[in-house]
Amino acid sequence: MSQDHLKEAIDTLKDTGVRITPQRHAILEYLIDSMSHPTADDIYKALEGKFPNMSVATVYNNLRVFREVGLVKELTYGDSSSRFDFVTTEHYHVICEDCGKIVDFHYPGLDEVEQLASHVTGFKISHHRMEVYGTCPECSAKKELTH
Ligand SMILES: [Zn+2]
Ligand SMILES: [Zn+2]
Repeated sequence: MSQDHLKEAIDTLKDTGVRITPQRHAILEYLIDSMSHPTADDIYKALEGKFPNMSVATVYNNLRVFREVGLVKELTYGDSSSRFDFVTTEHYHVICEDCGKIVDFHYPGLDEVEQLASHVTGFKISHHRMEVYGTCPECSAKKELTH
């Protein structure tokens, strides 16, 4: 499954004329396999052993290239640094308020909201963003232990 995603991603890069360097390959692989929503720093830490000459700035520049061709989404949350999400299908995020973990979930049917918004306001709707917040199972378990 993740091998298919990697192959598709590499095909997309080829089609858009983006050169596939070993670093880009590794960053993509990490994004697809980790299933987390890493920051540029997380990716850098995971790959620095493999690419000693790579800097956080290089990672960030590569992520920006991926974002421009539509392979990754950059998620910004004001205060902390951006997180990156490999784009598969449309999905939503539930975010832990304690540790900041982001987990994907799928929920169809919010297209209605876009239609309603368009109908009520006359806007041409391009997309929407919805996030759900709470405490993840790990953090909940930790809290119970300390009580
Ligand atoms: Zn948590
Ligand atoms: Zn996601």
